[in-house]
Amino acid sequence: MDDAASSLIVDVLIVGAGPVGLFGAYYAGVRGLNVALLDSLEEPGGQITAMYPEKAIFDVAGFPAIRGRELVENLVRQAAPFAPRYLLGQQAVGLERGRADGGFVVTSSTGLRISARSIIITGGIGTFTPRPLPTGEDRLGRGVVHFVPKPQEYAELDVVIVGGGDSAVDWALLLEPIAKSVTIVHRRAAFRAHPHSVAVMHASSVNVLTDAQVSSVLGDPLHSVEVTVDGETALISAHRLVAALGFIANLGPLLDWGLEIVQRRHLVVDTTMATSVPGVYASGDICEYPGKVRLIATGFGEVATAVNNAVAFMDPGASVFPGHLSDYAPTDTAGAPGTPTTVNTGGVS
Ligand SMILES: Cc1cc2nc3c(=O)[nH]c(=O)nc-3n(C[C@H](O)[C@H](O)[C@H](O)COP(=O)(O)OP(=O)(O)OC[C@H]3O[C@@H](n4cnc5c(N)ncnc54)[C@H](O)[C@@H]3O)c2cc1C
Repeated sequence: MDDAASSLIVDVLIVGAGPVGLFGAYYAGVRGLNVALLDSLEEPGGQITAMYPEKAIFDVAGFPAIRGRELVENLVRQAAPFAPRYLLGQQAVGLERGRADGGFVVTSSTGLRISARSIIITGGIGTFTPRPLPTGEDRLGRGVVHFVPKPQEYAELDVVIVGGGDSAVDWALLLEPIAKSVTIVHRRAAFRAHPHSVAVMHASSVNVLTDAQVSSVLGDPLHSVEVTVDGETALISAHRLVAALGFIANLGPLLDWGLEIVQRRHLVVDTTMATSVPGVYASGDICEYPGKVRLIATGFGEVATAVNNAVAFMDPGASVFPGHLSDYAPTDTAGAPGTPTTVNTGGVS
């Protein structure tokens, strides 16, 4: 991955190197554009890398099942022939408009200035910070965790997971065959997670406690938690307490970019994925339009639309339609397209 320089000129800057931004980088490369990806995280992959790298994903077209980490690796490999610049560990903070050529300058939290003729925002849920546990948050890193990046480290451990959403249930299912025991504690009767996952969890060996709360965290190192169910307390052996209460998402500086926003969370786009600012597009979880479905599969289609429309925005003579990529001769066995249609490019400084 790339080191930051103090300034950079690209055709397209993609803000957010999650799955959707990564696929956008591939498509920008196919259209002959110089592209950079900016992300506040240290690794590409967005929510997948941060929250569920080991989970199997079943609803990406063409993959009956693919592990999160593998999908991200594939996306990085798919874009690699076009040498996108990765500007990681830095947040996009400022947007300046009104360059003589109609382009933009984005400033990052490390002081990098990136000039781009078009911007595609694939910022997902923005920067995400895990919701803290009401009890036990002070032990974060000492038995209490928010993420499960390496499930194998839970072998032979008793694990208690707190939460009722997708992350909680997914981690329960992921850890069930690995850990010594898995207990899920949810303060409501019904889970918010995908119904199929909940059904699989109920049929598994996961100990499911609903209308329940962790009332005390015991031992340092952690050895057990006290759980209150209907006013009664029970002691449960726990070497790890996984707090999966969701995330506080914040678009942060993007809120001040002058784009039309709904609920301070989503950028309004039209059918070309254009935001309210000409030349700025959005795709993936961050964008909003009637009927929007927040899935990886839909984000991939949206970003292909965004990139191809950005091409026509930058070069009004160019077609939005890229042609069928199988028309291009692959340059290697990985099947990277050969000489795609080029658009007038700005080059990288
Ligand atoms: C536990 C869990 C399980 C899931 N399972 C599935 C599933 O099975 N199938 C499915 O289709 N979807 C699933 N999802 C949803 C899926 O992960 C999202 O739809 C997908 O990640 C959206 O991709 P994205 O690229 O739009 O955004 P993200 O993955 O959120 O990536 C956005 C990136 O933008 C960066 N960013 C944000 N703001 C800035 C800024 N100002 N400057 C720099 N960088 C910024 C963030 O750091 C992040 O890396 C799941 C989600 C969770 C939490």
